[in-house]
Amino acid sequence: MSRPSWQVTECPAWCVVEHQEDDHPDDRTHRDAGVDIPVVTRRRHYERDELVADVECGYFTLGRWQRDGEHEVWISLGDNDSHDFEVGRDSFLRLIRAMEVLGLDIEVLRGRPELIGF
Ligand SMILES: [Zn+2]
Repeated sequence: MSRPSWQVTECPAWCVVEHQEDDHPDDRTHRDAGVDIPVVTRRRHYERDELVADVECGYFTLGRWQRDGEHEVWISLGDNDSHDFEVGRDSFLRLIRAMEVLGLDIEVLRGRPELIGF
């Protein structure tokens, strides 16, 4: 398959996007399929003078993207509802390391798919 004239670099192995000649400049990115992670979230806020918590079930999506022609690969974690974070690869690795420092055993989580959903 030929690539569009605007595409500077080959797709990374993880890119699942079928790029088109008429892709909007903002959409000229390489993206993976992402992984949906079932999550329970809690948002705390004050109602009058009382701290209350809203607990909801939903999904976060974890995925990679890279603007065509740029080096940096961004790791995105979002709730598909306008809330998301994008961090660089090194930052993401520091987050994983911080989880280990806090005693959240990554190896145990790997062996307990029911805890992380995949
Ligand atoms: Zn691509």
